[in-house]
Amino acid sequence: MPSRVLIEGGWVFAGEGDGPFQVVEDGVVAVEGERIAYVGPRDGLDPAWEPTRRIDARDKAVLPGLVNAHTHHAMSLLRGYADDVPLMPWLERHIWPAEAHLTGDDVYWGTLLAIAESLLAGVTTFADMYFFMDRVAQAVVETGVRAHLSRGLIGVAPGADQALAEGKALVAAFQGAGDGRIRCALAPHAPYTCPPPFLARVLEAAAALGCPIHTHLAETRAEVEQIRAQYGKSPIRHFADLGVFQHPTLAAHCVHVDADDIAILAEHGVAVAHNPISNCKLASGIAPVPDLLAAGVTVGLASDGAASTNHLDLFEEMRLAASLQKVSRYDATVLPAWQVLRMATVGGARALGFDRLGCLAPGYLADIVVLDLRAPHLRPRHDLTSLVVYSAKASDVDTVLVHGKVLVDGGELLTVDLERVEHEVEERARRLARLARGGAADGTP
Ligand SMILES: [Zn+2]
Repeated sequence: MPSRVLIEGGWVFAGEGDGPFQVVEDGVVAVEGERIAYVGPRDGLDPAWEPTRRIDARDKAVLPGLVNAHTHHAMSLLRGYADDVPLMPWLERHIWPAEAHLTGDDVYWGTLLAIAESLLAGVTTFADMYFFMDRVAQAVVETGVRAHLSRGLIGVAPGADQALAEGKALVAAFQGAGDGRIRCALAPHAPYTCPPPFLARVLEAAAALGCPIHTHLAETRAEVEQIRAQYGKSPIRHFADLGVFQHPTLAAHCVHVDADDIAILAEHGVAVAHNPISNCKLASGIAPVPDLLAAGVTVGLASDGAASTNHLDLFEEMRLAASLQKVSRYDATVLPAWQVLRMATVGGARALGFDRLGCLAPGYLADIVVLDLRAPHLRPRHDLTSLVVYSAKASDVDTVLVHGKVLVDGGELLTVDLERVEHEVEERARRLARLARGGAADGTP
């Protein structure tokens, strides 16, 4: 018999689709196996339905699991390593030299750290683009989270062929793995790192494997200027003309897009991962999220890697996403709280191509967050959606289910040995910093 979990007595954020949530007071969520069987008032649940486990959600909010639509999880090893530096020198002088020394084990432990941080912050799914992705997949399988995984492909580096081979092997080995929790994509890194002949090879592989594309697009003004100078068109038009969008595509950033670009994204069903803090901290700009949504583009919320954003906390991202649009447009009505929370849940789920994920409704995958509201910053409770988006913190997360299984129980991680992870990460981060600065692995400076 499948497990039956009953979450009872909380404010339940019910309802499918893109609109405001129906917040049910003293509601219940019944989970059977990996899916939600019932959501609503307690008296609507079949009295014969007997749970194998009960979760007390009184004084708590029950939300769909948050989806981080674009990250580089293992970059948590480089958190705080090089801050307050512009994008290109940041990459060329700091990040790439450190990454050149990364091992598969480093990526595994760095990913576990990011998964631990994310789970404790209510993030149940993430879209990762990095390398040693088989080790990332291993971490996903072991910890029980949900993920969209791709090997980042740079078409100008000497290792481009090797990277593409690894990218294809990842898709072949892990598509649908972890009981369907893993989806795989191919990830041409960006228009400025993937020349058209290389891109053509990636697309051919995507067609053969039947897999989607994950990329970075229109992140900075410099990128738009460079692609215009090289090809006479915007990065988005350039990728459309090369046939990238004939494949389901997840595009991170899309900060510098005009009306034509937005029309192209909408027409081809390209989904956007919005990274507000990364875009601020690297001084990239503000993505026109309300215009994307108005055009019918699917938008998910994301943190980007912790080397640029310094955290993987989608509560912070939600608040900044809403605030940035309001202040930049001098209009407090744009991107209301419910829309931001939809972006962080079902928007991300759709952007990553997961079916029946991101809402609390019967038949949906049971990725659920229970948020403890017993704190001074969460009183009074006029509007629960406002409270969650504008006042709640990642540290208010109490219990987390993914695929129907409890992975965080009363604030305790059940599938990650956090003490071991912290120890491994500290040692590995120190070694990387030493090597990147020209020292030897054994500590000789
Ligand atoms: Zn990125």
